[in-house]
Amino acid sequence: MRKCPICERGELVKAEDIILELDGYVFVVKGERCNSCNEEIPMEEETKRIVIASKRLGIWPEPLKLYRQLSKSGNGLVFRIPADIEKQLKLDDETEISITKIGNKIVISPEKA
Ligand SMILES: [Zn+2]
Repeated sequence: MRKCPICERGELVKAEDIILELDGYVFVVKGERCNSCNEEIPMEEETKRIVIASKRLGIWPEPLKLYRQLSKSGNGLVFRIPADIEKQLKLDDETEISITKIGNKIVISPEKA
């Protein structure tokens, strides 16, 4: 186990819920956490992976991760678009969207009219 470079007392323990802040946006990545001072150190590979994946998805330089709960409506599940995204992407109730499944992720893209 590696020693913590920050407090030099604790040991770095592997964790999968390290908070990584990049340009003011927050991601949850794999990395290590000190068991003494709780300093979180994201894996460098993970940081690169996030940047590359964001660019590929066309969301860089504005990657955004939000947590939302789906709600039940009739027989289906409803996802509410956050207001700031609605404004940024100029969405309204006439916007057509495409839904792409990538692995276990869902990408929602507005179709330009
Ligand atoms: Zn430490």
